[in-house]
Amino acid sequence: MSAANSKSALGTILALPGDGIGPEVVAEARRVAAWLADTRSVAFQFIDGLVGGASYEAHGVPLTDETMRVAMEADAVLLGAVGGPKWDKLEFKFKPERGLLRLRKDMDLFANLRPAMVYPALAEASTLKPEIVAGLDIMIVRELTGGVYFGEPRGITDIGGGNRRGINTQVYTTQEIHRVGRVAFDIARARGRKVCSVEKANVMESGLLWREEITKLHAAEFADVALSHMYADNCAMQLVRNPKQFDVIVTDNLFGDMLSDEAAQLTGSLGMLPSASLGATDSSGKRRALYEPIHGSAPDIAGQGMANPLATILSFAMLLRYSFNRAVEADLVEQAVGNVLEHGVRTRDILQPGKTLVSTKAMGDAVLAELERLTKTR
Ligand code: NAD
Repeated sequence: MSAANSKSALGTILALPGDGIGPEVVAEARRVAAWLADTRSVAFQFIDGLVGGASYEAHGVPLTDETMRVAMEADAVLLGAVGGPKWDKLEFKFKPERGLLRLRKDMDLFANLRPAMVYPALAEASTLKPEIVAGLDIMIVRELTGGVYFGEPRGITDIGGGNRRGINTQVYTTQEIHRVGRVAFDIARARGRKVCSVEKANVMESGLLWREEITKLHAAEFADVALSHMYADNCAMQLVRNPKQFDVIVTDNLFGDMLSDEAAQLTGSLGMLPSASLGATDSSGKRRALYEPIHGSAPDIAGQGMANPLATILSFAMLLRYSFNRAVEADLVEQAVGNVLEHGVRTRDILQPGKTLVSTKAMGDAVLAELERLTKTR
C-alpha cells in the first residue's frame, strides 16, 4: 500500500481501483482530484490499495486485513469495480466480490445513496419519453444492512412428503429505521426538502413500524422537510409514470434494491451512475463512507480505453459533498460533466449520432478542460 502525500490535505482517501475497467475510471477521477488540489487547494492524501481479483493475485485474498484497517481509518474510500472471468471459478471466500462485501460489512455501511440523474443531453438514451425523464434528479436512500436479506430465521428445511420450506424474515428495529431516515432527511435538506418513505404498511407489520417510526422521526427532528408515504408497488409504478415528482426516496433493503435499479434504468446509461454507501458518524463527527460507480468491471472492454469514467468522477463529486462537505466543488464537478455532455463529447456507451466519440482519457481531458473554463468564467 502506498500513500501519495498532499500538502495540507483535508483528509485521507483510500483508492481501491480493483479490476477490469476499475483502474482506468479511477485514474480519471484522480486527475479531477489533482486538479482540485492544484487550482483550489482542495487536496487529499490518497492511499493506494488493492481489492478484488487484483488483491487476490498479489496477496491470495480479495481484501487483506491491512487494507481493511486502512479503510476503517480513512475519511473515505473510492472504489472502481471488482470481478472478472479470471476469478469466476475461485472458491467462494476468494471471489473478488467478497472483498467488496467485507468492506461494506465491516464499515457498517447502512445507507446506500443512489442518485438517478438524467442530464438533458442524454434524455434520448432512456427507454422512457425524453419529456418524462429530461432533467430528472432523484436520490434513492436504501437501507443496506438489515431487512429480509439478513433477518433470522432463514433457510430451507425439509418438511416431509417431498416438500421443502424456504424462509426469510423481514425485520427492522426503531434504531435501524431512524438512522437511515436521518440520512434521507439530512440529504433532502440540502436538495428539494422532500422525502417519500416507501414500504408495504398495508400488508407487512415491519412496513407499518417503518411508517410509524419515520413519521415520529420527522415530527421530532425534521418538520422543515415535507414527508409523504407510498406503498412500494405504487412507487414502482410512479417511477415510470412521473419520476420527477420525487426528490428523496427512503426505503428498506429489498424494496430499495429493486427501486434503485428501476430508477437507474430511467437514465439509460450504466456508465453515468455514481453511488455512495454511508456508515454511522463517530464521536469525532467522522462518518465511514465508500463511493463507487454502480457499474461492474466490464471485462469486455477493459484495457481498451473505451470505458466511461463519468460515473466514477460523479462518485468523487459525491465524496466531496458527503464526506468533506465541499458542496461548491461537488457542484463544479457535476456542472463540468453536464457541460461536457452538452458539447456532444461521448464515450461509446453513450454515443449518439452526430456526437464525438472519445476515449476514457479524452473524456477525463474534456472534464478537466471544462473545469478550467468554468472557474475562469465564474
Ligand atoms: P458490468 O457493469 O461490468 O457491464 C455490463 C455492460 O455495461 C458491459 O457491456 C460493459 O461493457 C458495460 N459497461 C459497464 N460499465 C461501463 C462503463 N463505465 N463504460 C462503458 N461501458 C460500461 O456488469 P457485468 O458484465 O454483469 O459484470 C462484469 C463483472 O463485474 C462481473 O465479474 C461482476 O461480478 C462484476 N460486477 C462488479 C460490481 C462492483 O464491483 N460493484 C458490480 C456489478 C458487477
